[in-house]
Amino acid sequence: METIMNRFLELFYKISEIPRESGKEGKFASFLEEFAKKHHLYCFRDESNNVLIKKKGNKESNNPIILQAHIDMVCVKRENSNHNFNTDPIDVIRDGDIIFAKDTSLGADQGIGLAIMLLILESDTIKHSDLECMFTTEEETTFNGVVNFDYSKLKGKMLINIDYCKDDTIIVGSDADICNEYIFEGNLEENDLQAYEISVKNLKGGNSGDYIERSSRNAISIIARIIQELQKIDDVFLCSIDGGESEIDIATSCKAIIKTRIEDIYNKVKELNVDENIQICEIKNELSFSIEDSKRIISQILKLKQGIVKKQDGNIIVSGNIGVINTNKNKVFIQGVLRSIDVEQLKKYNNENLSISENDHFTVKEIYQDSAWIPNEKSKLLDDFKKAYYRVNGSTPIVDIAHGGLECSSIMKRTNNMDIISIGSIIEDFHTVNEKMYISSCEKTIKTLLEYLKK
Ligand SMILES: [Zn+2]
Repeated sequence: METIMNRFLELFYKISEIPRESGKEGKFASFLEEFAKKHHLYCFRDESNNVLIKKKGNKESNNPIILQAHIDMVCVKRENSNHNFNTDPIDVIRDGDIIFAKDTSLGADQGIGLAIMLLILESDTIKHSDLECMFTTEEETTFNGVVNFDYSKLKGKMLINIDYCKDDTIIVGSDADICNEYIFEGNLEENDLQAYEISVKNLKGGNSGDYIERSSRNAISIIARIIQELQKIDDVFLCSIDGGESEIDIATSCKAIIKTRIEDIYNKVKELNVDENIQICEIKNELSFSIEDSKRIISQILKLKQGIVKKQDGNIIVSGNIGVINTNKNKVFIQGVLRSIDVEQLKKYNNENLSISENDHFTVKEIYQDSAWIPNEKSKLLDDFKKAYYRVNGSTPIVDIAHGGLECSSIMKRTNNMDIISIGSIIEDFHTVNEKMYISSCEKTIKTLLEYLKK
C-alpha cells in the first residue's frame, strides 16, 4: 500500500502543476491524451474537453465499471497572493498527513479523484474489470461537461463518482436545485449626507451544501443585518452593496456603501455585536437609492431563503444560499440557490422566494434548475461497495443524500438506469484558500475502492 500511496501523491502533485480553472481545462485534457497514449489506452476527448479513457479488465468476472471525477477546480487566492491560475502550478504543501496549498485553493476537489483514476489506469498490478474513466469539465460552474458528454461511448451500467468530501459516507442521491437571479432597478438620487463604507471580509465561507451550518456567517446577510439595525435608528440610504463569489458558496466578504445622518456610527455598529471583523470608513459618494428602495433591497436580502430552511427528523429537507450580490449603477443583482430532494418542497419555497421578490419590487430570472438524483433502492453497486467497505474498514459506511450539486443527477438524467454512487475522502474548506486533504483519508478511500474493484 505504501508504494501505491507514494505514487498517488506523485500523481496528485503532477496534476496540481497543470492549470485547470473551470472552463479552461484544455491543458489538462491534453495531458490526459498524452497519458493515455503513453499507456496505450483508448482515449476520447470531446469539444467540451471531457476525456474518456478506457482500460481492459484483468480479472475473470467482468462487469464494466465507470469511474468519474471532474477536472476543474475553484480558483481562489489570498488577497496578497500574485498567483496566476492560468499559468502557475498550485504550490502544494505537505505537513505530515495534511496537504494544503500556499495562498490558494488546493484543488483536492477533485484532484484526488483524478489522481485515483490515473493511479488505476497506469497500474499493472491493480485488479479490476473493464474500466471506463470519465474526466469531466466545468463541474464547479455550468455542468457543461456532463451535459455535453456523449454517453453512447460508455459500455458500463455502474458509475462511481469520486467527488464527495468524506471517507465514511456513500452518497446515493442529491438535491434538486434552482438558481435564481433577483434584480432590482431603482432610481439614484443626489444625497449630501455623509457616506460610509461598511465591510466584512475573510469569513470562513465554503460550499453552502456541505457547510450549511455556516450560513449564519454569510457576509452578505451580516452586512444586510447591520444596515437593517441602523435603519431602526434613523434613515439609511443605500448606495451600493457587493459581495460573494459564487451562488453556491457562502459569501466570505461583502461591502456596502450607505449614507446616513446617524452620528457615531462606529460605536452604533459595535454595539450591535454582529461581528468583530466589521470595518467602517468614511468615503465620498454622491448618489444613493431612495429610502424606500434601500429598505426594499435590504429586506429582500434578509427574507430570501437562506441556510437550513426546513428540517425533518434531523434531516435537512430544504436549504438555501445567497451567494452573490452586485450593484451596477441603479441596479442590484442577487444570485441565490435553493435545494431539496423533495421537488414539491423545492417548488413551495421557490414560490415563497418569488412572492417575497414581488413584494420588494425585484424581478426574478431563473439561471438554472437541476433535477434531484433519487436514490436507487435496488442498487447492486451500493450493496457491493458497502461490503467492500466493511471488509477493509470493519464498519458499515453511512449512506446519505448530498445537499451540494453533484454531477450524478445530470448523468442519471442522460443515461438509462445507470447505477450510481458517489464516494470520496475528507476535504475540508474546499472552494476556499483553507482547503485541506488528508493522506490517511485518501488511503482509506483508495483501499476501499481497490477492494471493490478486485471482487
Ligand atoms: Zn467537486
